Amino acid sequence: MPAEQVIGRFAPSPTGPLHFGSLLAALGSHVDARHQGGLWLLRIEDIDPPREQPGAIDDILRSLEAHGLHWDGPVLRQSTRGERYETILDRLRDQGDLYACQCSRSELARAGVIDCLGPCRSAGHTHGAWRLRSADAGIIHFHDRLRGELSEDIRRVCGDFVLKRRDGLYAYQLAVVVDDADSGITDVVRGADLLDNTARQCWLMQRLGLPRPRYLHLPLALSANGQKLSKQNHAPALDPACASDNLWQALACLQQSPPPGLRAAPPAEQLAWAVTNWRSGAIPVTPCTR
Ligand code: GLU
Repeated sequence: MPAEQVIGRFAPSPTGPLHFGSLLAALGSHVDARHQGGLWLLRIEDIDPPREQPGAIDDILRSLEAHGLHWDGPVLRQSTRGERYETILDRLRDQGDLYACQCSRSELARAGVIDCLGPCRSAGHTHGAWRLRSADAGIIHFHDRLRGELSEDIRRVCGDFVLKRRDGLYAYQLAVVVDDADSGITDVVRGADLLDNTARQCWLMQRLGLPRPRYLHLPLALSANGQKLSKQNHAPALDPACASDNLWQALACLQQSPPPGLRAAPPAEQLAWAVTNWRSGAIPVTPCTR
């Protein structure tokens, strides 16, 4: 049998510039794929226009280039994939896996339910938020390369989750599963903040008969005052002028023990070192402080 072609990816949302936490995900997924002789793809998750920031896509591309993180092939933009997502939704509808829910958020909050008040499940509505039935999901088990076997009772934790919102926007859960599968992604390496989405994604893959990628969820990056580095917390944008130092610190956070002498080396040299010396098993599960 020919050796499997490893394909990794980095999938930022253009809600702001890359910060140190995003660099961990970009670097970790890049080096992990390259270490296995694999491809590394870039996908821009621009399916939520109200949350997007003008200029963010260009900023992200420039920042990746400044850090020597060159991707293979064209950049995939989720905003161009609507037709494909609709085809998949049609298929799920035909399988009886979806229903349109017309409950409002405030109704759900008042009733203390996580998904739907109930009647929508059998009402046959043609408009509303399209939810994936989870009653038959049981406990979803999946493997994380750092954490081992994990499981989640999605019915209890998130219920029938939304794949297409009432306002017509596609949900992250749908787009990520369809795009990872269509791109042949074998290895999903991303931040631990996304860990609680994985079981839902596995359930959707199961309903679509798609193979599961391998998963590795990287530690979160915290700021010096212990706050998670995220766009919501206004994490500072990566400074391309400090690319070498940023990369060295990111490798140190991932406990790859980069030699001190590498700290000032150009990005290409640091990445070459990292690809050769990559030890995914050394990555900590606990958050790291920059
Ligand atoms: N677009 C997501 C984010 O920027 C990442 C999605 C993923 O890696 O699955 O947080």
